[in-house]
Amino acid sequence: MRTRLMMLGPPGAGKGTQAQRLAEALRIPQISTGDMLRAAKAQGTPLGLEAAGYMDRGELVPDEVVVGIVKERLAGADVAQGFILDGFPRTVPQAEALAEAGVQLDAVINVSVPEDELMARITGRLSCPSCGAAFHRDNHPPRQEGTCDACGSALIVRKDDSAEVFGQRLRSYQAKTAPLAAFYQDRGLLFEVEGTGPLDVIQARIRDIVDAG
Ligand SMILES: [Zn+2]
Repeated sequence: MRTRLMMLGPPGAGKGTQAQRLAEALRIPQISTGDMLRAAKAQGTPLGLEAAGYMDRGELVPDEVVVGIVKERLAGADVAQGFILDGFPRTVPQAEALAEAGVQLDAVINVSVPEDELMARITGRLSCPSCGAAFHRDNHPPRQEGTCDACGSALIVRKDDSAEVFGQRLRSYQAKTAPLAAFYQDRGLLFEVEGTGPLDVIQARIRDIVDAG
């Protein structure tokens, strides 16, 4: 089985949801950078405190600090059976640093979704500013157009879900993170998964890759 895994895919591809399901099924931890940085900070490890300094100043935590924290995390007893990295590495230099730190992966699962579907998924989201209920123009429309089913407030499109802001996130992903696919392809670790269709079907596609190793 391939159990040292990394999930790759654009925002809105659903890789976080798939990673969570897989982590539960395989009983291995899903490791996200944000969680890890917060844990290292709370534990007060030297690297955690260094990272906290950057975060408190609102600065980006440098790659070598993040990689150090990832390495510490991956030395934990609970990752002996495997792990799923979610949201790290984000760039080719981070991937190089991770490899140099001796962290080995069995598979990088690249969840791909056509750009027009990503756009429809994200920009179709409707949010209730009063009670937080979430709707979707196509997949989960409110009973009355533009109105929250739960509390009757007028629904809004959050700024992050606007075509403009989401388009920027996609561009940023393509520029920085998509080259990672080529990096792992060169190392024979890249596996493509179509991220469209029912969640169970996508999960089964991922399991085929995990189980085939
Ligand atoms: Zn509401």
